[in-house]
Amino acid sequence: MINIAIDGPSGAGKSTVAKALAKELHFVYVDTGAMYRSIGLYTRGAGVALASVNAETVVPLLAHITVSLAYAEDGSQHVYLNGEDVSAAIRENEISLYASAVSKIPEVRAHLLSLQREMAQKHNVIMDGRDIGTVILPDAQLKIFLFASAAARARRRTDELHERGQAADYETILAEINARDEQDRTRDIAPAVPADDAVKMDNSDMTIEENVAAIRALLVQRNLI
Ligand code: C5P
Repeated sequence: MINIAIDGPSGAGKSTVAKALAKELHFVYVDTGAMYRSIGLYTRGAGVALASVNAETVVPLLAHITVSLAYAEDGSQHVYLNGEDVSAAIRENEISLYASAVSKIPEVRAHLLSLQREMAQKHNVIMDGRDIGTVILPDAQLKIFLFASAAARARRRTDELHERGQAADYETILAEINARDEQDRTRDIAPAVPADDAVKMDNSDMTIEENVAAIRALLVQRNLI
């Protein structure tokens, strides 16, 4: 199987690029963030307050959590929490915070590791996350570490919110992005750092199409497609 790992910080466009590339190559797109979000959703549903998310409160819940994936006709990923499709529910903003909190617990990461590896054993995958190239798929044939400057990400996010008719202040968003980057980079477990053999790609000045083409070129260069 061909395994492509795409890691990088939040907001670098990993999922957009990975989805587009998977569709084009007829590979399975695996969004590992959705799995952490599902555990976050269950944790909230179990009545655990965000500030109380830690190993003591969450580890006992894991025995009751089964996360699975299925794919729609158009290739889009659906994530199931104990058999219920939670693909829409996990996109809530508060669930991003729960996902980030539960993802710091080693037992949570261990709980999801086998599902992630199993997907890569059964299918040609493009898997996005934070530790795919470093921990989950160390033998992936291509590892990309995707990033963009804080300014570029803040600009994209501001434009996206404006397009949705929501108020958005560039400077505020930039400050939030810088704070989150620092937290992601310095956390003890699964920090968003590139694998030694990852290709580091700065997409600050690339369109989605250019970014997809750049990765496709690497696949061709390595005789993978
Ligand atoms: O990518 P997404 O924003 O959906 O991920 C949600 C959260 O899950 C992130 O804040 C990140 O910290 C965590 N995550 C992780 N490891 C992954 C994927 C996501 O720790 N492989």
